[in-house]
Amino acid sequence: MYCPFCGHEETKVNDSRLAAEGRQIRRRRECLACGERFTTFETAELVMPLVVKSHGSREPFDEQKLRSGLIKALQKRPVEQDRIEAAISRITHRLRSLGEREVPSRQVGEFVMNELRHLDEVAYVRFASVYRSFQDVDAFRDEVDKLKVRRRREPLEGQLSLLSAEDAAGKDAAGKDAIGKTKGGKRD
Ligand SMILES: [Zn+2]
Repeated sequence: MYCPFCGHEETKVNDSRLAAEGRQIRRRRECLACGERFTTFETAELVMPLVVKSHGSREPFDEQKLRSGLIKALQKRPVEQDRIEAAISRITHRLRSLGEREVPSRQVGEFVMNELRHLDEVAYVRFASVYRSFQDVDAFRDEVDKLKVRRRREPLEGQLSLLSAEDAAGKDAAGKDAIGKTKGGKRD
């Protein structure tokens, strides 16, 4: 950087060491023109990018808003709070890792959908139906079709599926019918 006193372009570093428990590098510099000394601190930029909405407005990334969105989609679903928090950490980490100062809200939505797909299919469809309907109804239908294909290929464990939940309901009804018939048989 230029000398903050005289604006000269060349400074030399006299001393360089870690600061703030290794989260910063502190450099003692000296201007080659005026001889003034000053200190600079170097830190990693871990700021969250601004979220650019589809109509072009920008707003700071809001982790609480992300959390309430996920909780709403996962309402009454068998997913532990710890797993929701882990998903939030992964989403914020991915956003930071992009290294961009601004990201489109669509990008955030894709990250959220990716997490929900692994957490719970019903929540995923809930979120996708609201989120995607603003964009493209056909794209949403494609997602549901993809989900059906994936279920046939690799049934997920430890997750209540939207499709098998319907199957289970059908089987329950059939089971009750069978019991009724058995009782009828005893009467004979
Ligand atoms: Zn200077």
